[in-house]
Amino acid sequence: MPRNRRNRAGRAGLIFGDLWEFDPAPETADPKLKPRYGLFINGSFVRPRTGRHFDSVNPANERKLAEIALAGPADVDAAYQAASRAFRGWSALPGRERGKYLFRIARLLQDRAREFAVAETMDGGKPIRESRDFDVPMAAAHFFYHAGWADKLEYVAPGRRAAPLGVVGQVIPWNFPLLMLAWKLGPALAMGNCVVLKPAETTSITALKLAEILQDAELPPGVVNFVTGAGETGALVMGHPSAAKVAFTGSTEVGKAIMRQLAGTDRRMTMELGGKAANIVFDDAPIDQAVEGIVNGIFFNQGHVCCAGSRLLVHEPVAERVVSKLKNRIRVLRVGDPLDKNTDLGAINSRAQLDKITRLVASGVREGAVKFQPPCPLPEKGFYFPPTLFTKVTQSHRIAREEIFGPVLSILTFRTVDEAIEKANNTPYGLSAGVWTDKGSRILRMSTELKAGVVWANTFNKFDPSSPFGGYKESGFGREGGRQGLLDYARLE
Ligand code: NAD
Repeated sequence: MPRNRRNRAGRAGLIFGDLWEFDPAPETADPKLKPRYGLFINGSFVRPRTGRHFDSVNPANERKLAEIALAGPADVDAAYQAASRAFRGWSALPGRERGKYLFRIARLLQDRAREFAVAETMDGGKPIRESRDFDVPMAAAHFFYHAGWADKLEYVAPGRRAAPLGVVGQVIPWNFPLLMLAWKLGPALAMGNCVVLKPAETTSITALKLAEILQDAELPPGVVNFVTGAGETGALVMGHPSAAKVAFTGSTEVGKAIMRQLAGTDRRMTMELGGKAANIVFDDAPIDQAVEGIVNGIFFNQGHVCCAGSRLLVHEPVAERVVSKLKNRIRVLRVGDPLDKNTDLGAINSRAQLDKITRLVASGVREGAVKFQPPCPLPEKGFYFPPTLFTKVTQSHRIAREEIFGPVLSILTFRTVDEAIEKANNTPYGLSAGVWTDKGSRILRMSTELKAGVVWANTFNKFDPSSPFGGYKESGFGREGGRQGLLDYARLE
């Protein structure tokens, strides 16, 4: 047996480990960053009236990437004014003309895909493989999809006229910065609305780079405006009196704060909030495929995924086998430089998020769950967390109830279908779920009884612009994607 076959795995039979050390394979495309970004208002980059900027930091090495403008009340107001002025012309354009702009944006994004992927990875910490193969192509797909709708709006609600709402305020999180932006802009613009959007403070760069594309596409000034800043700027965007609708993606806590802020107004709202999804594996499931699905479900994007399969529910007869295979599988995950094409887990998005993950993992140990982390050297600089499994988790543990938003899987077991359903639904959230079984009838029953906006069967984390995405319960309301997503940006007449 070769020397290393026992080394990392610590057991015979595992044939990966450091048998296959890869040479570094860094992605080298130039992300074309500017040292300083202004606000994007009325089609131009402008200085913030606050006169203030903040740093955007590369979480992989803690180096500053660029300075980002901090928008205050006067800036947000200027953005809304520009959007309100643009609305009359934009909403009056025939849908096919609006569609042309969206097609153009999609194609320009494809042209600059590598550059955007590198910028997204440097700004957010996600592996380049994911930004290259998922975030950027999927963002372009959303623009293409909604471009296709723009001249077919009479089919959004047959028999009724779907009219735009006006100016919409949008706030997005840091886990899929460009993709969340495309989810928000695509349907709003196709329907004829104008937009004021705030990206997350740690990941504003790809929004500002997309502003360059909007300029190149000659999108009329004011149709889309980007204001940057943290929560205070977000509250200004959500609370502005000119907003006909607000769309928020982020934590349930902030979603609730926005709803309190807007209570008593007639503002339309969409809330895409947190999750604590159950990924349920039955004893008749194809176990090796399920293990891959579990790994993808929780370690994709370092677990910074609202619909992450963060609670694994395993049927007791196969629990030991599944856990043992999972441990073997995560021993060979590569954690490190997000720009390396071989990296599986990149950097945690910020120090604050790393601290939150560390705290919740410590609570799991304190409350009696059993932690497993493979031996895993982490880079000295930057924010990293090893892939982590917890067994002997009970439903009352914090790690089974709270959204960790990191590469941490809590494993519980069940004996019957009813118990699986009850445990899966025993959460305030309801964004997604996964079911692994050979039985079609069981999939149908589970997908009916699980209170989750998306239920994946024998797969996980599959997305398509035509498929509506959204939550039940404290995961929010409203849908993004598909016909339903367009309806959330329309007034039916
Ligand atoms: P967050 O709620 O802290 O921040 C989200 C955005 O809201 C950021 O842009 C932030 O600056 C802004 N913000 C903060 N306070 C605000 C306030 N008082 N008013 C208005 N805006 C404010 O969330 P996060 O940590 O950036 O993102 C992670 C969360 O997002 C997770 O809970 C995740 O599940 C959720 N998420 C949900 C979906 C979905 O589709 N349901 C998708 C991605 C992420």
